[in-house]
Amino acid sequence: MAKQPGGDAVLRGTVGKPKEQGNPRERRAVVDLHLHTTESDGRLTPQQLVELVARQGLRVVAITDHDTTEGLGPAWEAAHAYPHLTVLPGIELSTDIPGNEVHILGYFIDHQDPGLQAMLEQFRDSRVGRAKEMVRRLGSLGIAVEWQRVQEIAGHRAIGRPHIAQAMVEKGYISRPQEAFEKYLGRNGLAYAERRKQTPEEAVQLVVQVGGVPVLAHPAHLNDLDRVIGELQAAGLQGMEVYYAEYPPETIQRLEKTARRRGLVPCGGSDYHAFGTPGEALPGEMGPPLEVVDRLRSLRRLESGVGITRPLAPPGPSP
Ligand SMILES: [Zn+2]
Ligand SMILES: [Zn+2]
Repeated sequence: MAKQPGGDAVLRGTVGKPKEQGNPRERRAVVDLHLHTTESDGRLTPQQLVELVARQGLRVVAITDHDTTEGLGPAWEAAHAYPHLTVLPGIELSTDIPGNEVHILGYFIDHQDPGLQAMLEQFRDSRVGRAKEMVRRLGSLGIAVEWQRVQEIAGHRAIGRPHIAQAMVEKGYISRPQEAFEKYLGRNGLAYAERRKQTPEEAVQLVVQVGGVPVLAHPAHLNDLDRVIGELQAAGLQGMEVYYAEYPPETIQRLEKTARRRGLVPCGGSDYHAFGTPGEALPGEMGPPLEVVDRLRSLRRLESGVGITRPLAPPGPSP
């Protein structure tokens, strides 16, 4: 039985206190709209991720891999086993503004749109060029990482810095991938290389073009947030992340106010990658209330397509 969401008081207030005080690993939300898989830089396959979020008792999740939608099919397939779980189509697009990186999430995109897939392929190509350049720069610093090995580590996934970092660990140049980012591959790192990216406005427009709902990801680090929001709203922005796992309560409150003032849907999630780093938030440790999913759903342009969404199941016991 499926209940129409939104009209039920039980569905509200899902971001509450943890059931047990003092246990920060407790699931706090039933919605998590920011999750990565092995199709980009996550460590769990789409199947493993779906199993995990189902175990965590989540009800609505979105797969938001970087510049790829390849994880969606396998995730939907795996989700058949969990009737209480809805998996929304999503993506996270990397873009640049001077001096800063801006990520745009897109929900309810038509992932089968050929134009979208062509654009994503272009981004991935520029990612390859950039990764190669960083391997070259490492070489000139005396760090001999083989390009072929980096490709092997990446497999069929979008190649990127985590794969270079892993190759460096294998060769014993560093002991943890984190170190590679701190010293070499991070924005101010010795081997860092830029790639040609789209602007945030272009990313927002791309999401709109394929019927999706564009949302500004983890915006707290942006200087001049109001100006950025204004420009992106002119391009079609509909939401921004507020309930983001890394953010302390003060930041969440500030962003809640901004979202309300600007008429943006307050989204969020864990940005889970399964990196296994200490303190990494698990899926569901943070997320927006369930009614946010309805607001997003009402904003999408395509009614059809994207064999995604059965109606939300009523709250039930965690599997
Ligand atoms: Zn991001
Ligand atoms: Zn992310």
